Amino acid sequence: MNPRSIRFRLAAYQVCLLAAVLIAFSLAAFWGFRRHLTHSVEAQCANLTRQIAESLLANVHVSGVDYLRDEVQEHYDLETNNLFVRIVQPNGTVVYESGEPRDRSFSPPRMSFLPNLKEPKVEVDASHRRLVFVRPYRLPQGEFYQIQMVASLQPVHTSLQGLWQVQVLLFPFALLISASGSAVLVSRSLNPIRQVIATAQKINSGNLRQRLVEASSGDEIQELTRTLNQMLDGLEASFKQMIQFTADASHELRTPLTVIRGNLELVLQNKMALDSYPKTAEVQETLAQTLEEAERLSKTVSQLMELTQLDSGEIQLEHEVFDLTELVATTADQMKLLAEDNQIQLEMLLSPQVKVQGDRYRLKQVLLNLIDNAIKYCPAGTRIQIRLAPADSGYVLEVKDNGPGIPSGEIQRLFDRFYRIDKARSREIGGSGLGLSICKSICEGHGGRIEAESALGRGSTFRVTLPPTTTLALSGKEAP
Ligand code: ADP
Repeated sequence: MNPRSIRFRLAAYQVCLLAAVLIAFSLAAFWGFRRHLTHSVEAQCANLTRQIAESLLANVHVSGVDYLRDEVQEHYDLETNNLFVRIVQPNGTVVYESGEPRDRSFSPPRMSFLPNLKEPKVEVDASHRRLVFVRPYRLPQGEFYQIQMVASLQPVHTSLQGLWQVQVLLFPFALLISASGSAVLVSRSLNPIRQVIATAQKINSGNLRQRLVEASSGDEIQELTRTLNQMLDGLEASFKQMIQFTADASHELRTPLTVIRGNLELVLQNKMALDSYPKTAEVQETLAQTLEEAERLSKTVSQLMELTQLDSGEIQLEHEVFDLTELVATTADQMKLLAEDNQIQLEMLLSPQVKVQGDRYRLKQVLLNLIDNAIKYCPAGTRIQIRLAPADSGYVLEVKDNGPGIPSGEIQRLFDRFYRIDKARSREIGGSGLGLSICKSICEGHGGRIEAESALGRGSTFRVTLPPTTTLALSGKEAP
């Protein structure tokens, strides 16, 4: 058995625990039993000395010492019962003394009258295996006596020895039974984990669709299986997303590269006639087009990089507190000229002094992208409204237009990478389909969200919701 396996360790812990419990229990039982037996002997001595005192010693004046001796001898048969009694007076006179115990289990101690003894006194002499009980007794006439009784502790010792032997004998058996029982039980309860491991080992990038069988046992193993399956769901989705992303990215990069390559080939074919005027103009136009494609390519690559860095946390968002109203107003002012060039009216409806905590530059980037999109995709004569207001869950920044709108089926996918509704038109106006993905990353990095609301022919509203300043969590980091 592998000593590092959970099965081995659990069984070992259980055996150790049982051993500790058994030892503690045995010691407690031993101690308790010894106490109980010693108390019984003590109670017996107390009882007998009281009887001797009250029924015989009390009448010694009337009945005489001889009568007392005979009575004690006759009624209590001390030697046979392995008891010893001595009755002494303060001057050392021994009124009565029994013989030694018949079984010779102890030798009676030489004791004289104990001065100043008011209450009965008990002394356990473990080394001589005897218990000494001394009861003081004063007669009504004023005479003082002490009844010294010595009892054997040998029976106590023998019983304890028996108990100890039973415990020592049972201890290894109990451990053995517990060890094998725990090994079987632990092994049985870990079987489902082994199945989980076996299935999990079969899952790789090629068959991420496979799932672990979830037993409805309601225990931790079911929870573990469910968690692993949820993790696999996430992994599969990320994997699919990654494949889709790679395919989209290659496709996006291939188009401008094809154009650039084609144009350069065209120029090379025409190189011999570069100095003839009409050809020169044609070449220049081709080169200008090539440059445009190269610029588009470079923009797409830098946007892709930015997105990756935002997602991986490589770009760290600032978390300063600033006036968002002012930022929105100045940004909108900067875009006003572009809007007017496109004969689009830009309106603002801003609550004053909206303070947020975040990255001023990145939030401006979100706003620029939303206004730029609205200008790009809305025809002349339309209107863009920018609204900033407090809301239940923080602050809301809206960029609303009354342009062509977005088909309802497409709204969900707007924030996907490279997603464009009309690819040809979007490309024509220089769109890469990455702008809204970047906006989403930035908003989520601020602990907020971005969503779109639109209907075909009735314009679109892009709504950014930012959490209140105090609860703002930036990329999982605490604000200072
Ligand atoms: P792009 O760089 O192509 O503009 P975006 O991610 O910013 O990429 O936008 C994705 C797509 O969403 C755009 O291609 C466009 O089809 C659509 N879109 C964005 N904003 C608007 C808008 N205000 N009105 C209509 N369509 C829009």
